[in-house]
Amino acid sequence: MPSLGKLRRSSTATGLVTIGWVLLQTLMPLPPALADADPEELTYGQFLEKIDQGQVEQVDLDEDRGVAYVRLEGDSEEDAPHQVVLFAGERNPELIRRLRNNQVDVEIRDSAGNGALTWLATNSLLALILVFGLLMLLRRSASGAGNAMSFGKSKARFQMEAKTGVVFDDVAGIEEAKEELQEVVSFLKSPEKFTAIGARIPKGVLLIGQPGTGKTLLAKAIAGEASVPFFSISGSEFVEMFVGVGASRVRDLFRKAKESAPCIVFIDEIDAVGRQRGAGIGGGNDEREQTLNQLLTEMDGFEGNSGIIVIAATNRVDVLDLALLRPGRFDRQVIVDLPTYKGRLSILEVHARNKKIEPDVSLEAVARRTPGFSGAELANLLNEAAILTARRRKEAMGMPEIEDAIDRITIGLSLTPLLDSSRKRMTAYHEVGHALLTTLLTHSDELNKVTIIPRSGGIEGFTQSLPNEDIIDSGLYTRNWIVDRITVALGGFAAEAEVFGDDETSTGASGDIQQVTNLARQMVTLYGMSDLGPVALESMDNQVFLGRNLMPRSEVSEEMASKIDDQVRTIALTCLSRARQILRDNRPLMDHLVDLLLERETIDGEEFRQIVGEYTEIPEKFLVKAGK
Ligand code: ADP
Ligand code: ZN
Repeated sequence: MPSLGKLRRSSTATGLVTIGWVLLQTLMPLPPALADADPEELTYGQFLEKIDQGQVEQVDLDEDRGVAYVRLEGDSEEDAPHQVVLFAGERNPELIRRLRNNQVDVEIRDSAGNGALTWLATNSLLALILVFGLLMLLRRSASGAGNAMSFGKSKARFQMEAKTGVVFDDVAGIEEAKEELQEVVSFLKSPEKFTAIGARIPKGVLLIGQPGTGKTLLAKAIAGEASVPFFSISGSEFVEMFVGVGASRVRDLFRKAKESAPCIVFIDEIDAVGRQRGAGIGGGNDEREQTLNQLLTEMDGFEGNSGIIVIAATNRVDVLDLALLRPGRFDRQVIVDLPTYKGRLSILEVHARNKKIEPDVSLEAVARRTPGFSGAELANLLNEAAILTARRRKEAMGMPEIEDAIDRITIGLSLTPLLDSSRKRMTAYHEVGHALLTTLLTHSDELNKVTIIPRSGGIEGFTQSLPNEDIIDSGLYTRNWIVDRITVALGGFAAEAEVFGDDETSTGASGDIQQVTNLARQMVTLYGMSDLGPVALESMDNQVFLGRNLMPRSEVSEEMASKIDDQVRTIALTCLSRARQILRDNRPLMDHLVDLLLERETIDGEEFRQIVGEYTEIPEKFLVKAGK
């Protein structure tokens, strides 16, 4: 796969070739018009005389160089023409009239002759390419060669919106954050009320939350509610090639802001400049530190009551320089969480306002289907669904479009189904394995659907369950829930092994196995859910930094590490044999479901449960849902 790095390297190569080419060009002989012309010169006076005497046969006027090439009567075609240097200012209209009056053949060139013209054209083209190439090269290292070239004197690249047009009503699902910020609006509207009683107005507010939770929207809404201008810039814009550019941008930004106070200054991704100084990987970054210092200076510089409120956004408050969080700076911190069910519902309602939606669409159901979605993802979801609706030439968006949009966002684009093949059969067993266990286990989530329609990204099918809202919102998972989840995740692998034999299991289960390993490891090292007892063998902090890579072995002894591995293996193997046992006990049912899935390609959860119910007992919680 062509990586970005590769593409970039090849563009550098093009740049170098261009430079070489231009150098060669400039070594070429001079342009023909300059080199070949070796004419007898005429003075301007003589030239006028000859015109009046009617001895001039033909004139080439080169306006740019202020020269006329003159052919007199009796000059042979091969001879170079006479050159006449024209006086600046004297030329043209007057001279041309005079030539016309004497019926002289006049040609006007607007540059240095034909040979010279092409020469110039090629070279200016090359020069352009060169300049362009250089700009691209600069741009790669500094985001913004234009500013870098003028060493920070040029305009800062911040945006200014006189009216954002956003109000609090457009922001949904983050009520607590909104409430806290209401006060900022009141201050911007009538600062006297606050200053009269001696209240200190906050200068800076830090919005903390994951991308897409509506931090920018919230800041815009504050400006909109208070009807003040909105200045914005992103922290990543400050990270420049030349030291001093960022600091000068900060200065510019605040100068402009002071002129328009009261106003909001919004700094997105403040962690890009606001990381702890001197603590960066690979040594300090002078540029970033200077920018940060300038920002602190500016914030200290204006009085609390000057009417500027700085709002910054980040999702990494843990890496911010403590100086930023001191009183008088960003001392007010507001957390903007991912929305809960209620929040998602109201965000969906906001974004459904301007869309045509069929009356039977239940936004409640959509909100239930989308735990973990941010506000931006929900907005995107409805937009995708609207696009699908238009593509299907429907009048209004229906539940099928929304369902498809959810799958598209969470799983990938759907592709055309595979033709019948042993591969497809194997996929069907794999997915039915997951789906059957989901339906039969007591602590698993409710099955939403199982499908073998492939998706982009190499996904050949998937089994989808509806997350249990109570569990997600509380963030508390029981041991039973985790064990059932591991068992379901192993269902695909177990079905392959049961039906096709251990030798025929496929690599299609690698994602499942990764998930199983992560869950089992967390049970052992974080939640005390193994024979090793309730001992934290890994700190939560570690996880934040390592993200999905949960293998921090350095903190435990080697002996303990191998005990952890043993426990993880035990959990996985126990769950696998449980999964295989259940599938073995229900083999005829599994075969029947696979045939049906091969025929229909998708089975929804309701029907799946109904079929399973005809063969065997299913947990009561699902029976209620199935309406029995
Ligand atoms: P952030 O700044 O936190 O990354 P944005 O404010 O840029 O997120 O959100 C992007 C878009 O997502 C918004 O323009 C809006 O359409 C939508 N959105 C995000 N959060 C919300 C919300 N709480 N209410 C309504 N729309 C939201
Ligand atoms: Zn699977």
